[in-house]
Amino acid sequence: MGIYIESFPSSSQEVIEGRAIDLANATAAEILSGIQNAGIVGLGGAAFPTHVKLSIPEGKTCKYLIINGVECEPYLTTDHRVMLEQQEDIFMGLRYLIKALSPQKVYIGIEANKRDAFEKLEQYKPLDLAVEMVLLPVKYPQGAEKMLVTAITGLEVPSGKLPIEVGAVVINVATTAEIGRLLPHGRGIQERVITITGPGIAKKGNYLITIGTPLRFILDQVGAEDIKEVFMGGPMMGVSVSNLDIPITKGTSGIVAFKPQQTLENQAEYACIRCGACLDACPLSLNPSQLGILAKNESYDLMASEHHLLDCFECGSCSYVCPSNIPLVQYFRVSKSIVRKRQAKAKS
Ligand code: SF4
Ligand code: SF4
Repeated sequence: MGIYIESFPSSSQEVIEGRAIDLANATAAEILSGIQNAGIVGLGGAAFPTHVKLSIPEGKTCKYLIINGVECEPYLTTDHRVMLEQQEDIFMGLRYLIKALSPQKVYIGIEANKRDAFEKLEQYKPLDLAVEMVLLPVKYPQGAEKMLVTAITGLEVPSGKLPIEVGAVVINVATTAEIGRLLPHGRGIQERVITITGPGIAKKGNYLITIGTPLRFILDQVGAEDIKEVFMGGPMMGVSVSNLDIPITKGTSGIVAFKPQQTLENQAEYACIRCGACLDACPLSLNPSQLGILAKNESYDLMASEHHLLDCFECGSCSYVCPSNIPLVQYFRVSKSIVRKRQAKAKS
């Protein structure tokens, strides 16, 4: 959903600044409220409000602050670009986060296929910041929060729980850079870096784009032609859009466009042959085959209560390996949304 905003013809287009958050004197609560006022959300794609994520529940403490520079989604290089070009913003953001959370250990996790970014951050790392840089093996979906916590700390986040359960807070690297870029000036988030790529795009690249820009306008600018399918986000965790007249949001990390010959649209779906490939592929050891059957039977409550549906973070690995072309992840997306609605209704 979006709203149209008509600009005032005589507007000066100046950037309005609010109250700057002075790192030296700000309290943790002031930093959180600065992040909230800046409108910062998880820029990795989830768009979850960052100040909520940083509000540690009573009885818990943040032992590990993990900056997520993994970006394992195919095609996307947004975070990679940010790491190559915005080291100052990243370390400034990290200072705010450290002050807000007082973690015992701070890590920046980066996949080994972005060694240049790893070296750049290592080179610019301020001497007074105790940050451990971790180069991780290239493995999908290494960037998923629970996977990353385990890869770095060795701790496993229990089913149905958040990383804070084991004392970890994971923040995306581009989100960290925005905190460092905006808070010292009291500015709000207005734009973000977006990877625009795929076989249907002539001028592929990472672009700084104003939030709210219509997708159709962007595609016109980057020479999109003969496109059949467009994903907001990557091809694994992103969502295929049915309408180009939608705006870019804070959670849009990528736009990937495919031509007709590269889409799966016309591939037939067959019955499950119980090959077990999806079970082997699921990083959370769920049973996507069984979940898929239950989804088709609309047994949503059973999926959640007996088969950990809500743990599924929609990585798409099960759909990718399925020889029967069963769109498992699509089923799980819909099922999760139905279960969440039912849970919310039961609570109200
Ligand atoms: S999308 Fe499939 S493979 Fe990924 S977590 Fe969910 S069930 Fe497992
Ligand atoms: S990969 Fe597809 S065919 Fe194989 S068990 Fe899973 S759902 Fe069934």
